[in-house]
Amino acid sequence: MSLTLLENIGTLLTLQGAAQKGGRHIVEEDLGILKNHSLLFSGEKIVWIGPHRKIPTEFRKQKMKVIPAREYTVLPGFVECHTHALFAGSRSAEFEMRLRGKSYQEIAAAGGGILSTVRATRKESLAGLIKKTQERVNQFQRQGVTTLEIKTGYALDEKNELKCLKAIRELRGPRIISTFLGAHAIPSEFKNENEYLDFLIQKIFPRLKPGKNSLADRIDIFIEKGFFSAAAAKKYLSAARELGIPTTIHADQLTLSGGTDLAVDLESQSADHVLQITDRQIQRLSNSEVTACLLPVADVYMKCPFPPARKMIDAGVRVSLATDFNPGTCPSMDISLVGLLARLEMGMSLPEVVSAYTVGAAYTLGLQSQIGSLSAGKSADFICTKVEWTDLFYSPGQEFVMNSYSRGRKIFSSSTYA
Ligand SMILES: [Zn+2]
Repeated sequence: MSLTLLENIGTLLTLQGAAQKGGRHIVEEDLGILKNHSLLFSGEKIVWIGPHRKIPTEFRKQKMKVIPAREYTVLPGFVECHTHALFAGSRSAEFEMRLRGKSYQEIAAAGGGILSTVRATRKESLAGLIKKTQERVNQFQRQGVTTLEIKTGYALDEKNELKCLKAIRELRGPRIISTFLGAHAIPSEFKNENEYLDFLIQKIFPRLKPGKNSLADRIDIFIEKGFFSAAAAKKYLSAARELGIPTTIHADQLTLSGGTDLAVDLESQSADHVLQITDRQIQRLSNSEVTACLLPVADVYMKCPFPPARKMIDAGVRVSLATDFNPGTCPSMDISLVGLLARLEMGMSLPEVVSAYTVGAAYTLGLQSQIGSLSAGKSADFICTKVEWTDLFYSPGQEFVMNSYSRGRKIFSSSTYA
């Protein structure tokens, strides 16, 4: 196996303390900030991190590629754990209509709304979907994202949801986690939620069973008034659990509708949005292994309040942050903006934000034993930047990543784009 040494790193953030604390109660010391250390990886895995010049003899004797890293700040690759990046069509005109005061019904009557994305996505070819989505993946990659979650949910029929799942498996670059969100909305072909969910369980779930040919890594549902009820979701997600497929929930975004409670009851990986939750749900989350995924840019686009992040974090809830990138309610892929809003509007400290986008997000996807922090045995997923760590989540739009690696492979170099 080929050895590579990142030699004498200017500043290394390992996030080891944050990982050991399970992403809860994070302070600056948990970032594991080290000066003049080196990192050695072999194939996909990190094999050693330690002070520069103290490489163990067993490795020193071997041939290795050396990357001088004195000018770099190196940290775990960012984990973007909630996106709807797979779709066709555009909803930009609809955004202007919404801002000019048009109602949801008027927008739908003019051909807009989620069903316009469904129409365009059903019509798009597999190759077309792969091409469009790959461009978005590249956009995330430029920002230092080395693991990216992508949901389906804009096809809502058997043939096209399977097409979308297959498209996700063809994407290249970062580690891609595929989430089946067939339960995004009830398509007009079905009478009610139960009929549609039963259809998904019968027709799609067999293709999602864990194994080599599984088409998804997790299952998601949108629990909200007018979409899916907590009662119907319970049956649906329990069926997923029986097959061994991890679950996640779009929970309590517009109304308190039972999503967070269900996530705790079913030991889901995460409850996402959670901006309507009360002290009771916060308490339950803090006593559970469910990660609360916060999506503040979506809250801005939706003109919603922000989730009670400070209260959650102080109560010991593990949080993650993500974009919620989607064509309707959050067309931004900017992870710096997410972190900036968390700092400006949600009272989160910079160490809390950095941990939420690495360790917290890794937990959200059930990948905490592999990614989110840097230590021997973990995956070689990291980014090299020329800025200080205090410049992170500070200046949206700035491109600061020089190189990024996922599973020991270089997946991005800023010079390629120069
Ligand atoms: Zn979402």
